[in-house]
Amino acid sequence: MHITASKLYDYTQCPHRVWRDANGPKEEKIQEPNPFVELLWNRGVFHEEKIMASIGEYLDLKDGSLDKRFEKTIQAMKDKAPLIYQGVLKYKNLLGIPDILRIQEDGTYIPIEIKSGMGFEGMDEENGEEGKMKKHYAVQLALYVELLELLGFEHKNKGLILDIHKEECKYDLNLPFGVRDKTTVWQFYQQVKNNVDLLLKNEAHNKPAYSGICKLCPWYNSCKKWVKENEDLTGIFYVGGTKRDVLNQDLNINKISDIFDIDISDIKDQKKKDKTFLKGIGEDTITKIIRRAEVLVKTKKPVIYNNIALPKVSYELFFDIEDDPTQEFVYLHGVYERSVFGERFLDFTAKEKTEEAEKEAWSNFWNYIKGLPQDDYSVYYYSPHEKTTYKRMQKLYPDIISEQEVESFFDNPNVIDLYQFVLKNTDWPLPSYSIKEIAVYLGFKWRDETPSGALSIQWFNEYLDTKDENILKRILLYNEDDCKATMVLKDYLDKEIK
Ligand code: SF4
Repeated sequence: MHITASKLYDYTQCPHRVWRDANGPKEEKIQEPNPFVELLWNRGVFHEEKIMASIGEYLDLKDGSLDKRFEKTIQAMKDKAPLIYQGVLKYKNLLGIPDILRIQEDGTYIPIEIKSGMGFEGMDEENGEEGKMKKHYAVQLALYVELLELLGFEHKNKGLILDIHKEECKYDLNLPFGVRDKTTVWQFYQQVKNNVDLLLKNEAHNKPAYSGICKLCPWYNSCKKWVKENEDLTGIFYVGGTKRDVLNQDLNINKISDIFDIDISDIKDQKKKDKTFLKGIGEDTITKIIRRAEVLVKTKKPVIYNNIALPKVSYELFFDIEDDPTQEFVYLHGVYERSVFGERFLDFTAKEKTEEAEKEAWSNFWNYIKGLPQDDYSVYYYSPHEKTTYKRMQKLYPDIISEQEVESFFDNPNVIDLYQFVLKNTDWPLPSYSIKEIAVYLGFKWRDETPSGALSIQWFNEYLDTKDENILKRILLYNEDDCKATMVLKDYLDKEIK
């Protein structure tokens, strides 16, 4: 089986995915493609086509068998073709199809990948921060560079990412990823490549790790079942694959029930003697893990540690936004309002994908907030996403609301991120503390059969294409239920807080 760019990419997202795709129980794999993953894929293809249409003349090698395309790519490079699109490079068990191969002044070739995201991690254009190379982009470029070297067409150890803004971002494989992470791209690539090779051949085997990204993966049900049956530590909220592996190795703890054998004072002593012992897991974290394991396996019901009263006001708003983060577009601000006058759902929706529509919906939301009796309302939302998004929108539309007003809205003690509240003050017998898991646990039922934020984005895109009002209704119904789910949690906390 070939080592390809997509296998290297998968490994950087979930190392287990590589093993499961090659050697896992095929009958447990979800066969229908995930609509959101498809949407992202189609958007990537569309972006690539747009870029290629603007690039001028190039040799197009995207069609034909891999062998034929490989022959043509080699010939084209020998003939010094300036730009080659979707050429095929292969050598032994390595196979790569770079988006573009571009000739350099010295006659060698540099690989270029077209991406519909930012070229670097943590790039801040406003503050002029350059950001770090992305690991999942870096391994793909490194594969192409190695193939070019093996085939005799490269010697500079460099690749380029052509990013969403058509900026060329240079990836130098000899450089480390950051100041703290001294591993060079090349070293990281070699490690990943070797691991992928072993996993594909079934000469190495790793475990699934239940995490947020699993929901978009075709192995979701299969891995979730495995985690449950094996009492894997990733079944505890916030214990991901990395912490699980450290606990497995350093403490020989493999099952949730084994956690209760942990002696914190022993761990403290060991840590003093050996700095590498339980690397990345401090005393606080281990205490939290034990506590969560107890709630999961022994108590089996939610626990509230701090009795912090929630505000008593005339207007309670349960608030949730729907946005497409891949396009930085907010299409809906939903509020479920409960007051002395009753309950109602309000939506502030952008029905077109234009700046004007987004701005108008946001402006209407703020007008509504400003119309409430100030000092006599509270707002509940669930995640830091709303705050981060609103800060970004303020920069985009400063004439709607000032930076200071947005700050003081979120600083208001009556405007509460219930997720932070849950994290600080409670524990639940659940593997995830998402609003969906918690509200369902509390008996709430979404009216939609497949409620999901990712699907909402897909529905919104369908609505834009078709203008079908039924699709819009579905989005609003889903958002209303998200808001109501937050209300169910708030009411539960109110009841339980003594
Ligand atoms: S479901 Fe999760 S653990 Fe399993 S392969 Fe997919 S991403 Fe990895």
